[in-house]
Amino acid sequence: MGTYRISFTLRKAAIQVPACETAEDLNILHLGFDNTDSIQGKCTTHLAFKIADYLLKKNEIKFVDFPLLIRLNPNIPWKTRGNGAVCLRIATRGSEHIIDYVKNFISLNSDISNGANPGFVAYEGITIPTSVRQFSRTALYNVLCLNDAEKIIENESIQCYKCGNGHGSIGALAAIGCLLEGDHTFEAISYRTEENVGTPRSLNEQLVLKMSAVTFPRTFNNIDAVHKRILITPHGPDPVFCGIRGEDPTTVLKSLLSLQTTEVLEGYMVFRTNQGTNMHLQNQLALSQVKPFMAGYVRGTVSKIPYILQGGHVLFEISDIARDTYPVAVYEPTDLGRIAKQLVIGDVVDIGFGVREEQSGHSRILNLEYLAVLRLNSIVHTQNPLCKVCRKRMKSEGKGKGYQCKECKIKTIKKYNVTVKRDIVEGFYLSSNKSHRHLTKPLHRFGRENSYPYVPGIYPFPNPNSFHRKGHLNDRTECRSF
Ligand SMILES: [Zn+2]
Repeated sequence: MGTYRISFTLRKAAIQVPACETAEDLNILHLGFDNTDSIQGKCTTHLAFKIADYLLKKNEIKFVDFPLLIRLNPNIPWKTRGNGAVCLRIATRGSEHIIDYVKNFISLNSDISNGANPGFVAYEGITIPTSVRQFSRTALYNVLCLNDAEKIIENESIQCYKCGNGHGSIGALAAIGCLLEGDHTFEAISYRTEENVGTPRSLNEQLVLKMSAVTFPRTFNNIDAVHKRILITPHGPDPVFCGIRGEDPTTVLKSLLSLQTTEVLEGYMVFRTNQGTNMHLQNQLALSQVKPFMAGYVRGTVSKIPYILQGGHVLFEISDIARDTYPVAVYEPTDLGRIAKQLVIGDVVDIGFGVREEQSGHSRILNLEYLAVLRLNSIVHTQNPLCKVCRKRMKSEGKGKGYQCKECKIKTIKKYNVTVKRDIVEGFYLSSNKSHRHLTKPLHRFGRENSYPYVPGIYPFPNPNSFHRKGHLNDRTECRSF
């Protein structure tokens, strides 16, 4: 069975990607960068779009994967906005001038004056070293320091360029270490021209609603139906016009083009990404391991009855198998408080969380991201039994002495147990999509995960036309409708 499965995977990859070349013919260059933006502006994906445009104009370069947008641990307090790093993987015969170009481009185009700390790493090789892959896995759920990154950069002869405090090299290294061979999604992002950055974005809401209705679940998180908000446009002064998330590159791109934007746009790029995959919550943690800013999940029982705080937030306590305990906070915007407040001591739950550090007046706390109620504890109340003859409630004869009906004089020692009906059911509960993070996996994606035909040394060479275009996007011949 095992052999059959492996050969099937290889055959599938070969059928899907006829334009394969083996790695011996080519030099594979992995370019990772991060932290080029600040709260005031710029965007790392926009830089990637510009760099990809340069690379695609060179004949001797082939992309061996879609541009990757890797969201890292969302709990890191010093992150820039969404904590997203980018990796471009290309096959080339000469890498030196490319590395120089990217280095230069990043130093000139990062928002350093507003506090960006860009990092850029370049690695040449067919396979990514295990230490880099491990570093990348850790960057999804834990806190890494510059020292950790620098050790690996030195040991593996990775070229590195950094500016400011150099923190960007952590995300850059993590991005090249993420092969994304498991679950992944795509996002088509369109960019504004420089003169429009900072002005309000105008979109035809009807077209967004239509696109969303027609393409769901192949695209997702386009709108917040409950609060009647469009989610595809950011609100800040960054160059992103809008982004459509979904399951495959064709659908996200078609959906983007169906919006028929009137604003003249600079172009678009489709990224393969870990958004919507819960990749940061894949590791089960013991409560004794929990440190500030970590992400993960824990299984345990409710050990303190939920407590409703001012503002509708709910606080309860969880105890794991080692009997360690932790307070869990459920914030009002997650909309999970209405479930959490129904929990009772002894309920078995699985929670996804991010760790908030201790602050003045607050202990360290787990911020709830999802709640899976695995087993509801039964609540049993004891009552005096009813008399079999007159159906009146019997009176206790004293502790351990049983019960007697005062009318009929019938005696019994049996108690009467009543199981209280619970107001929640066992199941998986996710926060409302207004409090979703980039990495949050929407409910409908459970059981519909994607995989990528990763075979070491064989590359699928995505067609550049399927993921990148520079040029005015309001050309109606490009726009298709559903
Ligand atoms: Zn009676």
